[in-house]
Amino acid sequence: MNLKNFSPIYWSAPYQREVAARIIGINKNRVKVDKTLFYPSGGGQLSDLGLIVYQQQEIKVVGIEKRDDGNWLQIDSAGDSILEEGVEVLLQLDWDRRYSFMKSHSSQHLISHVLKRLFDIETLKANFDDERIDIEVSKNLSEAEILEILLESNRLINEGEEVISIIVDKDEYKRKYRDVARGKISNENIVRLIQLGAGEGYDLTCCGGVHVKNLSEIKGIFLDVFKGNSLKFFIDKHGIDSVNRERILMINLEEVTAKKGEKLVEMLINKLNEGKILQEGNLRLLKMIFSEIAYRSQEINSNKIVLLNLPEIDRQALQSAARELEKGFLIVVLGRNDILYFISTNEELSAKKINEIIIEKTGSKGGGNKGFAQVNVKNVENPLSLVKEVLTKLN
Ligand SMILES: [Zn+2]
Repeated sequence: MNLKNFSPIYWSAPYQREVAARIIGINKNRVKVDKTLFYPSGGGQLSDLGLIVYQQQEIKVVGIEKRDDGNWLQIDSAGDSILEEGVEVLLQLDWDRRYSFMKSHSSQHLISHVLKRLFDIETLKANFDDERIDIEVSKNLSEAEILEILLESNRLINEGEEVISIIVDKDEYKRKYRDVARGKISNENIVRLIQLGAGEGYDLTCCGGVHVKNLSEIKGIFLDVFKGNSLKFFIDKHGIDSVNRERILMINLEEVTAKKGEKLVEMLINKLNEGKILQEGNLRLLKMIFSEIAYRSQEINSNKIVLLNLPEIDRQALQSAARELEKGFLIVVLGRNDILYFISTNEELSAKKINEIIIEKTGSKGGGNKGFAQVNVKNVENPLSLVKEVLTKLN
């Protein structure tokens, strides 16, 4: 079998950006051509886009439709009135898009290879876009493992390892490659393999995608985020730019905190823990107060009222403690940041209503419902006395 006949241009000459071709089919805004310049999508890689040039007119290729009778180029609507079956045209790739996919796709092979070789981790899912790669793997990774993967991947990029395309028929695949190659093969009689590196321990994957010739073209792989078994990377210029932007942010943070690197992280964790301990303490305090609320209450205008000045208490703590309140009370708390809270368990006395009177009297901002309401009293002198006065005059 002459394999050359089965090798599309995007496999045999992935750096070719244009080719003369003949229109061999037209159907409304779909066109079939006799050359395989455009990659039709598959294996996680999006399709190529570009132009059909005919008699100085440029017709946009906006997608590729894979049909039983072959691949059709989708063109913008003006196309079918200009083109005719049998005419010769020039096909042109959107090269920036294609080249970024070539780099991203090859980066994904590289990362998957390193994951497998260093930690025996499989790649379950992979997607790539413009200089960006998302991978889902078979095991959660630690920070130390991620660092090793980045170091090894970037080392191979620096070494300038070759990326080799191998095209064989199914028999040869079974004889020579089946036991050593990653990935599944399609139903077609031709198998395409991508080999990373020429030396020992190289990676071999069944893949129909489009790749760079040499890993050095990727320039570098940079971590964006990782969570459990999901990893996201940037490459090349996109990666370098994003790392520098993050570094500037860190420098700002380092200046504000006068701490660097690990010391900065340690300090932030401590601060967060202190905050958490404080919050838990506040909640315990509130629950204690609320459990003996009857003892702390006073009768104003025959309503049972509790007035509390608790400058450390915030809304969250109040709302969780309020769930355990006895029926028949109005609790008024002056809390953190000069917020005045009303919690009512008295059906006859709406928190919203009292709150609205305070808002009206002071011109402050706030809102709520009949069980829970709040108002900012930053500009009010002695807000608890004001509340007492309002409650006394209530009819
Ligand atoms: Zn691939």
